[in-house]
Amino acid sequence: MITKDTPLKDILNQDCDRCGHCCKYGTGFLVKEDLKRIADHLKIKEKELKERWLEEKELFHTKLWRPKTEKRPFGRCVFLKHDLCSIHTVKPLQCRVGNCKSEELALWFMLNYQVNINDPESVRQYASYLKTGGKVLKGGELENLVPKDKLKKMLNYELI
Ligand code: SF4
Ligand code: SF4
Repeated sequence: MITKDTPLKDILNQDCDRCGHCCKYGTGFLVKEDLKRIADHLKIKEKELKERWLEEKELFHTKLWRPKTEKRPFGRCVFLKHDLCSIHTVKPLQCRVGNCKSEELALWFMLNYQVNINDPESVRQYASYLKTGGKVLKGGELENLVPKDKLKKMLNYELI
């Protein structure tokens, strides 16, 4: 069973099969370390990688980069060539996680890289997501993420 605290190495055991299906409709998010790996692979600077190939998107008050799509906001990933990922060996972490395989994998990425428990606004947005019926992964319950008193202050906007 996957929980919020499942280590990355165990998550990557369920790696993506490179079928290219999801890459026709959207792209996966990069984490910080991916920027250098992909830029080095393409033999360009991180600045050029961001300008030419990536776009920034905010979720739960956290900004992450992801490959652009040919059409906005959804469509084929700019790195998809002949229906295969052209940067497969260095592709973004969210692509490597193979999150098509179970909802738990998508929730694991969200909890570990998008919900920021030190940012009151991120916590408030996650609380709204849960309140409106969003799925919760074991270990991702609000009371497990933030101490009770601090959580109360965050939700009451006493912490901004
Ligand atoms: S994440 Fe899933 S759908 Fe997407 S390329 Fe990998 S195996 Fe295919
Ligand atoms: S980077 Fe590769 S795996 Fe990720 S969405 Fe683009 S083509 Fe697919």
